[in-house]
Amino acid sequence: MTATVRNLVVILGDQLDPHSLALADFDPAQDVIWMAEVPEESTHVWSHKTRIALFFAAMRQFAADCRTRGWQVDYSTIAGSTAARFTSLSDALTASVRKLKPVRAVWVKPGDYRVEKQLKECFAALALELDERPDQHFLIDLDDFQVWAKGRKEFRLAHFYQHFRKKLGILMKGSEPVGERWSFDQENRKSFGRKGPGLFRAPLQFLPDAQVKSAIDDVERHFPDHPGKLANFDWPTTSAQAQAALADFIEHRLAQFGDFQDAMWTDQPWLYHARLSAAMNLKLLHPRDVIDAAIAAYASGQAALASVEGFVRQILGWREFVRGLYWLRMPGYLQENALNAQQPLPDFYWSGKTDMNCLRHTLAQTLDYGYAHHIQRLMVTGNFALLLGVAPKAIHEWYLAVYVDAVEWVELPNTLGMSQFADGGVLASKPYCASGKYIDRMSNYCGSCRFKPELRVGETACPITTLYWDFLERHADRFAKHPRSALQWRARESIAPSERKQIKAEAEQLRIKFAAKAPENTITASNS
Ligand code: FAD
Ligand code: SF4
Repeated sequence: MTATVRNLVVILGDQLDPHSLALADFDPAQDVIWMAEVPEESTHVWSHKTRIALFFAAMRQFAADCRTRGWQVDYSTIAGSTAARFTSLSDALTASVRKLKPVRAVWVKPGDYRVEKQLKECFAALALELDERPDQHFLIDLDDFQVWAKGRKEFRLAHFYQHFRKKLGILMKGSEPVGERWSFDQENRKSFGRKGPGLFRAPLQFLPDAQVKSAIDDVERHFPDHPGKLANFDWPTTSAQAQAALADFIEHRLAQFGDFQDAMWTDQPWLYHARLSAAMNLKLLHPRDVIDAAIAAYASGQAALASVEGFVRQILGWREFVRGLYWLRMPGYLQENALNAQQPLPDFYWSGKTDMNCLRHTLAQTLDYGYAHHIQRLMVTGNFALLLGVAPKAIHEWYLAVYVDAVEWVELPNTLGMSQFADGGVLASKPYCASGKYIDRMSNYCGSCRFKPELRVGETACPITTLYWDFLERHADRFAKHPRSALQWRARESIAPSERKQIKAEAEQLRIKFAAKAPENTITASNS
């Protein structure tokens, strides 16, 4: 190790960007990179094994690349951490600072409020100067977001997206959007119909090499009781692999992405989705490269505008939008619960053991791969939690635990704001809620389910449909008169009072059942 350390460059698990500003003036003769795998980052929420393995594998690859350049890396592995009894990032950092005695720490602003707070307290306790630099792995500066957000009470994606498309000149022709429309959302909602999606070409896989295998083995050893399987691990763990995954998506799936981005199909986890969120969130792949590649595919005639705009909207739009909102609303955001939802999260979210087919498939896929696409998250697991009235913090902790791409700045606004309406309309103008009929239209889950999506009451009524109508009733005061939601809420008025009473009683039974500990919360023909 260097005799006198000038800068201790702190690289967190989701900051694996070799072009990071934290490394801009790195001097191998006097600077040291600091990285750590510690139990707390995998246990503060009960993390999926694949999520932990992906972080460890990608961090180890990054550290190995740095060492190849001749850079010094002070790296605690999970085995070292537990042996030395480091439980948290601040424990591990304190030990390194005492050992290396750096003049200052350098980092890029973390993506997670909790980590930022914890480590800033640690720097203060160690009386260590901190040189914080902005995160350039986004398209929009947090300062620019603040300027856009100033004076607004509600934040709408459409305004944000148009503003920054103009500002950054993305998909623009002069001052007008290419194709003369800002959004092709209406074209992005097709289902596969009865015939189904046909055969799919499998996405490019990245089977574990020795380095990744050792990370997987460490996860099995140190987190044996955590949810999820590791057998299917095939995520990109290096920048080169992430670039290859991007090229594979652009060539084979982007053209169909727009049409089918909301569709779901049994045993088809990937469909036409990109599988790039984890690589972007870990900073292996820059969102600008992703957007540029999609726009180049449009320019060369490889993909239609509706697909390319639909894809760009997810990244320049939703991804940057939720990041800005997260930093604007934290730390209070985490506590919001506008609909006063208090139910516990049903146990079956961790096991997939339920006879509601849509949930069983989405949850099994989540546990097998650490992945579900956006509509499975929003309109299956999210919708069910919203309708049941699950406490936002409980469902937030689940989403943060089970997906390979889960980091709080993107997960929390999606869960709390978009999916659970817990921020009371800051992010979305009305709740994203639907009955089983929507799931039936967008998937083939209902065909082989024992419940009937169109039935509101009775033994074979779809629990999602029952809970949907009950949700409308329970929140009528709030939404029935609101211009954006009144039409949806008015539909319940056509239901006979006796059936409305029955819906209420059956919904209450469902809430009792799903609050019980497994296995009682699995509805079966005999106990429903
Ligand atoms: P695609 O469907 O192919 O989309 C392309 C890219 O667009 C994604 O890679 C992602 O970077 C971006 N994107 C799409 N939708 C969103 C969105 N709503 N917010 C932000 N970026 C978006 N995404 C995460 O990266 N991490 C999370 O922890 C996360 N939690 C979510 C929780 C809930 C309740 C919901 C409803 C959505 C969540 N999302 C999260 C957003 C979205 O579901 C995932 O980004 C997407 O499913 C990742 O798969 P993909 O790369 O195949 O994406
Ligand atoms: Fe899900 Fe209801 Fe359809 Fe069954 S009938 S798959 S529970 S939406």
